[in-house]
Amino acid sequence: MNLIPLPAFNDNYIWMLHDGQRALVVDPGDSHVVFEAIQRLGLRLEAILVTHHHNDHTGGVAALRDATGAQVFGPLLESMPEPLKRLRGGDVIEPLGLRLQVIDVPGHTAGHIAFYAEPVGQAPLLFCGDTLFSAGSGRLFEGTPAQMLVSLGKLAALPDNTRVCCAHEYTASGLVFARAVEPDNQALISYQDQVRSLREQNRPTLPSSIGLEKAINPFLRTHLAGVIRAVRQFDPDALDPVGVFAALRTWKNQF
Ligand code: ZN
Ligand code: FE
Repeated sequence: MNLIPLPAFNDNYIWMLHDGQRALVVDPGDSHVVFEAIQRLGLRLEAILVTHHHNDHTGGVAALRDATGAQVFGPLLESMPEPLKRLRGGDVIEPLGLRLQVIDVPGHTAGHIAFYAEPVGQAPLLFCGDTLFSAGSGRLFEGTPAQMLVSLGKLAALPDNTRVCCAHEYTASGLVFARAVEPDNQALISYQDQVRSLREQNRPTLPSSIGLEKAINPFLRTHLAGVIRAVRQFDPDALDPVGVFAALRTWKNQF
C-alpha cells in the first residue's frame, strides 16, 4: 500500500492510500486535488473515509462520489453528505481489502472518529483527522476536555510505530508551544530542527508516529510531572488530570 499526503487549501492534507490500481482517500475537503491525483496515477477511487463533519474535510465528498461511485464512510453522529455508510467505534470496514478499525475519538467534534489499520508487512496506520496533530491536538469545538483526554489516550495506546496521518500541517507552530511547556525536552529540541529543515524544503512533516508523539506532544504528556508543573504556572487551579488537560488546552488557545 502506498501512502501519499495530498496538500489542500492552506495546510490540510488529504491522505490517499493506493495499491497501484485502487485508491481510498481520507477527508477530501477539495475534490480537485483528488481528481488530479487519481488521473495522474491512473487509479480508481473506491472509498472515501470521513473523520468529522467540518467542511475542510467533507467539501469534496459529493463530487468525488458522484464522479467515481466510491463508497463513503463517515461518523454515525454527525451531519454528512448522504448517502454514506455510518460507522461507530469498534466497527471494521475492508476497503481495498485492507482491514480498518473505527475508533471513537470525540472532542474536536462530538462524533469524531479515527481509522486504524495494520497493513501486511507495513507499520500500522492511523487516520486521526483533527484529533491529534504532531506536537498538538485539535481544538475542543464540541466535546469536553474529559472526552478529548480519553480519546487521545486511546490513540496513545496504539503501537509506537503507528504512522500518524493528521489532517493538518500544524507541526511547526505546535512545536513552538510544546517548547514553551517543556523547554528542556531534548527529543523536542531535535524534532524541531528536523521539522524546520523539512518545512524549508516545503516537505510534509507527516506522518508522525505514536512513539514520537508520546515523546514530544504535550497533549499526550499531561500525566508527567514536568508538564503538570508548567501547566500549574499557567493555571494554579489545574489539579486533577482533566483539569491539567483543560488548562493546557486553554493555554494553547491563548498562546
Ligand atoms: Zn475540524
Ligand atoms: Fe480541519
